[in-house]
Amino acid sequence: MAHPILGSPWAYACEPFAVSDHAYYVGNTWVGSYLLDTGEGLVLIDCGMPQTVYLIFESIRKLQFDPRDIRIILLTHAHYDHAGGAEAIRRYTGAELYLGKEDVPLIGHPELLLSDRIHCPDFQVDRVYEDAHPVCLGRFSVRTVHTPGHTPGARSFFFEDTSDGAMQLCGMHGGIGFNTLKREFLEAHQFPISLQKRFYEDLLSLRELPVTIALGSHPAHTRMLERRAAGKGNGNPLRDPKYWSAFLTERADAFRKEILQS
Ligand SMILES: [Zn+2]
Repeated sequence: MAHPILGSPWAYACEPFAVSDHAYYVGNTWVGSYLLDTGEGLVLIDCGMPQTVYLIFESIRKLQFDPRDIRIILLTHAHYDHAGGAEAIRRYTGAELYLGKEDVPLIGHPELLLSDRIHCPDFQVDRVYEDAHPVCLGRFSVRTVHTPGHTPGARSFFFEDTSDGAMQLCGMHGGIGFNTLKREFLEAHQFPISLQKRFYEDLLSLRELPVTIALGSHPAHTRMLERRAAGKGNGNPLRDPKYWSAFLTERADAFRKEILQS
């Protein structure tokens, strides 16, 4: 069966919006992408699919930015829905593209990119993350944390920005889905079963971080669109010091039941 987004990508269009004073949501209603206005060029987090690149560009233009000012592309992980649009955007902008080094071998392997229903064009990786050294441009410093499991090289991102008149810590887990952590998938692709334990332990340690704005590599993960729609109009509806920890606790509990104890 064809992927539902293929027939009508425009049906997944999403109005762009600010998640903090200088960071914006530019993804569609299914897959997240974020734009950081560093003051010295733009950083784009995740690229969607080839069929939705134009939606990202439209969102960037609606925010009065120029996609050609993207200088850095950060990919959370090498799956078709986050990396499929990467090469088109990299070539158009000349931006440097970052990926976790453990995900580089996935490129060109549809069964690992999960790209059997939507093609994921090969993309060139210019830099791999050095987690001890944040990716810095202008006012932003993006800390990367290796959180393997969903893919071997998945990265989670943390950066500070102002919102509601104070500095906030924005956080995003880069690969929260359990689909590729099932025993059958790991065994079929010769990934170690120990990835399950590592993934679980990382959820528990990441939830201790004082994140006040929880972002999602898919907006549904952190219910971003719903939380934003429910906002009362005074202050940033995504700012919630309790949400991050509760979200990762819920994911850890679900992972324990669905994967570890199955
Ligand atoms: Zn994925």
